[in-house]
Amino acid sequence: MAILQAATETRFKGLPLSPGVAVARVCLFNEKRHTSLSVTNVTDKEVRSEGERFRKALSFVREKLTQLIREVKERVGKAEAEIFTAQKMILEDPALIQRVADHIRSKNFNAEKAVISSLDFFEEQLAEKDNAYVRERAADISEVKRRLLDALANLNPSFQCESDSFCQKGKNRIVIAQELTPSLTMELNTDSIRGFVTDRGGVASHAAILARALGIPAVSGIPGIHDMIFCGTEVLVNGGTGEVVIWPNKNTLAEYPDLQRGIAEEIPVVEPVTGLKVFANLSLAKKVKEAVDHKAEGIGLYRTEFEFFAAGKVLCEMEQYDLYREVLKAMKDKPVYFRMLDLGGDKTADFFKFPKEQNPALGLRGSRLLLGHPELFRNQARALARASRYGRVHVMYPMVIDIEQFRRLKKAFGEASADIPQGEIKHGLMFEVPSACLDAEEILKEADFGSVGTNDLIQYLFAVDRDNEFVAYDHHPDRKIFWHLIHHVAHAAKKHRKPLSVCGELAANPVYARKLIAEGIRAVSVAPRAITGLRIAIKNKPKLAKKRALKLFNGKKKRTVNADPSLKNRNKKTTKRRK
Ligand code: PEP
Ligand code: MG
Repeated sequence: MAILQAATETRFKGLPLSPGVAVARVCLFNEKRHTSLSVTNVTDKEVRSEGERFRKALSFVREKLTQLIREVKERVGKAEAEIFTAQKMILEDPALIQRVADHIRSKNFNAEKAVISSLDFFEEQLAEKDNAYVRERAADISEVKRRLLDALANLNPSFQCESDSFCQKGKNRIVIAQELTPSLTMELNTDSIRGFVTDRGGVASHAAILARALGIPAVSGIPGIHDMIFCGTEVLVNGGTGEVVIWPNKNTLAEYPDLQRGIAEEIPVVEPVTGLKVFANLSLAKKVKEAVDHKAEGIGLYRTEFEFFAAGKVLCEMEQYDLYREVLKAMKDKPVYFRMLDLGGDKTADFFKFPKEQNPALGLRGSRLLLGHPELFRNQARALARASRYGRVHVMYPMVIDIEQFRRLKKAFGEASADIPQGEIKHGLMFEVPSACLDAEEILKEADFGSVGTNDLIQYLFAVDRDNEFVAYDHHPDRKIFWHLIHHVAHAAKKHRKPLSVCGELAANPVYARKLIAEGIRAVSVAPRAITGLRIAIKNKPKLAKKRALKLFNGKKKRTVNADPSLKNRNKKTTKRRK
């Protein structure tokens, strides 16, 4: 595809994901960073950055091995931990480090090639020895090589221009990517990103949810944009209309006098209102202050898997415990609904071995994945049990399909944490799979609470992929059958006197929030920045409040995203010469 010339204004129409307008230079996200290993030579200019990559990989693997030695010693035994001690000694061998560094410096090998050639050399030398013990050390070298290559794969730059001195790593820039998966989104320093433009991604995708929560304008559904421009191109993003303008000219810029709108605006704080509890959604413990500042009446959905994405690894029991305790302490006597790891589907990452599946949305994900990985489940259950002494822990299981699965989860939690002194823990579930909603009467007889996850519920009820911009026009709640189902779950909660909240994205829209109230639902959980708009809408008469609340609400009126069902116009470009 042709690279667009500088000074040529070109317009595209995509799917609006998160409102606001921003104009800035772009940073191109490096999509190929996790693909196959590049074993190659580099130019003289690149030698330094390759040396740096090797040093980073070295210290990453060293830290990993230190952690492994400690954990294996504690959980398995000293003798078993020695396997990793031997690997660490090989890794720290000055001769090995020297050889790799020399191969980069004098042979212009990239880090991968230098690691392979150097470690293969040592491995071959040992493999030829007669002594069985020494030969075994050759296998250790091979393992160290694997670890270094894995680390190097993850240390590839996030941005395509990262090796150049002008690269801003997304700071004050618009990030352009093919698709922002939850794990990639967590790697970005979103505090300083001005906008997102992606080839792919639906309105209820996790990247869209995050962009709205942060007040960052975002547009998706512009195939190929990633290949048409280069780092540093100027782009205007209108996240309200879905318009993306490359090299906007003077006249276009004049249409947007308030170009600071893309930057998170100050939102007034509004006290809790009667009639609807407004909890906050949370992804990272370090962001809990935002919920407190907006006077959230609790954390209604803590997406704990995002802590793993942010750390880029599976967190151990104590690491999780520290995070959960921090959130509980910050929320004081208010409830915190910890959603247990909701991995799988669109939420995959390199740190966990996910199976290759034909249809991951219907595969090993959510509670099914938790039950299939007892170690993962056990560590989180124990961390939550430990943290429960600091506040009101609500354990919420994701993607539950029926009462039997709920019982298995609750039982497994009890068994995993039986030896831990703990506070009171409530057990409930997300109602986001239609079968569980239909079975709400039976489930809520036993569960302590429920929370409706409308993002996935709409996806599974109407068989419409929440991440797919081509079918975004069908991912909406404006159908009678959806509200029948909500009514059914709300009725079951009322019957069994169990708390029920709604934590999907629609809860932040005042129009839908009123419908939920009419169904007898008295609690919702929304992004912290959406709390104020929602409270204003609920407190005031609908007509008076509508204008102001909709302005503050980080979305548009219902179904605006469906304006262009086939999205067939989105690529019509109108090219004008820049004046
Ligand atoms: C949902 O599915 O509505 C939900 C709240 O969970 P998530 O968006 O994290 O899947
Ligand atoms: Mg969900």
